[in-house]
Amino acid sequence: LLQVEHLEKSFGEHQVLTDVDFKVYKGDVICIIGSSGSGKSTLLRCMNMLERPSGGCIYHKENSILGKPAQVAQYRAKVGMVFQQFNLFSNLTVLENCMLGQKRVLKRSAKEAKATSLTYLDKVGMLPYIYAKPHQLSGGQKQRVAIARALAMEPEVLLFDEPTSALDPEMVGEVLAVMRNLADEGLTMIIVTHEMAFARDVSSRTVFMDQGIIVEDESPQVIFTEPKNQRTKEFLSRFL
Ligand code: ATP
Ligand code: MG
Repeated sequence: LLQVEHLEKSFGEHQVLTDVDFKVYKGDVICIIGSSGSGKSTLLRCMNMLERPSGGCIYHKENSILGKPAQVAQYRAKVGMVFQQFNLFSNLTVLENCMLGQKRVLKRSAKEAKATSLTYLDKVGMLPYIYAKPHQLSGGQKQRVAIARALAMEPEVLLFDEPTSALDPEMVGEVLAVMRNLADEGLTMIIVTHEMAFARDVSSRTVFMDQGIIVEDESPQVIFTEPKNQRTKEFLSRFL
């Protein structure tokens, strides 16, 4: 579905990603772990065309996604993203937040966009709040709306950048439960997370990044019980 080859990204002199290679197949649930500043967000942002790589290639179904600025919105509809800070429009209701992209990018009618929004808001348990504004919701509720909004675009793959890091501890569980359901239903997902138990239990592959390099890309069984790399071992030992 997506293929990253020899990806490089620098900000000025500072090289943030170095020769990153990885592949995403349909149905994969990939968790990316690693310490702060290791380049996890930058990798996701490159995959969603929010950053332009300095080198290398990203392919979406064999087509390079670089060099086609006119199709960014269409591409982002297929490769959705959920952010740590939710990024909801504060002046719009929950329902309007979910409908906007469908109308603008997918050219769905209001009726169709509403029906699709309701389907996904129901899925994340937010039907009772469709006329609420974001400021009336808890963090966990906001993130569930952001997930419903991304799902309503019916993406091929959904990228999550630390979706629970901005939440109070008691709200982390409800968001992880929604994501676990999506994984069980076969949605292709790439999740940057510090929730090690979630990565261990839910991911089909766990990728460990350190200093802009993919150090290990393995099944969670290998990463969490017999990591091959010393740096992976040291990183994980901090969570025990
Ligand atoms: P965290 O766990 O803290 O979110 P991360 O693994 O997501 O970390 P990135 O946000 O990808 O790390 O950042 C990797 C490095 O790139 C950091 O050193 C950061 O300072 C730098 N960086 C990221 N974005 C920019 C930018 N727009 N301009 C300059 N430097 C940047
Ligand atoms: Mg980050």
